[in-house]
Amino acid sequence: MPAVLVVTGPSGAGKGTLIRELVDRVPGIEVTVSATTRDRRRGEQDGREYWFLTDEDFLERVARGEFLEHVEYVSGHRYGTLRSELERIAANGHVPLLELETEGALRVKHGVPGAVTIFISARVDELERRLRERATESAGEIGERIELARQQLEQAGEFDHVIENDDLDLAVAKLTDLVRSLMTPAATMPRR
Ligand code: 5GP
Repeated sequence: MPAVLVVTGPSGAGKGTLIRELVDRVPGIEVTVSATTRDRRRGEQDGREYWFLTDEDFLERVARGEFLEHVEYVSGHRYGTLRSELERIAANGHVPLLELETEGALRVKHGVPGAVTIFISARVDELERRLRERATESAGEIGERIELARQQLEQAGEFDHVIENDDLDLAVAKLTDLVRSLMTPAATMPRR
């Protein structure tokens, strides 16, 4: 069993949708709730999508060593995984699943023994279309996210697995198969 599962990739690649489909299909996985300093989107709840923190609170927690990893993302917004989330999920006997941008994902890959990293990829024109359609950010921030997405797509090869998400159903099937095989390694071992 992986110590942690990390799903990464550019903004707009559909990580969130794929993760929701995955946890519905594969038992024993729990998604960590990250902390962020960005504004809450319509419909988001504190403690469900994110822990929404002020910059001051976030930095105090950084100083206290409460984060496994944290980054400053576009527009100066901070995001981070609280160690307490991993402890909570481990106490439930589940495998934590982290949804991270690529910098944090690489840190976890190199810093957490037993971490398995999965990169969700999509074509740039498709990413751009999704971000513009979703319209949860200002035009300026969407532009920044697209520029960063281009750079992040080039990092795909640094992760353990890559899944293309140009076709959602196919991507869900591939991700589910992959994670099932990671969760039950004994099933793939030859019987004596
Ligand atoms: P959004 O603002 O769209 O919710 O998230 C922006 C980016 O931050 C996404 O790529 C998302 O995967 C990433 N992200 C969310 N939580 C964390 C976290 O705790 N750490 C890191 N490194 N990235 C995160």
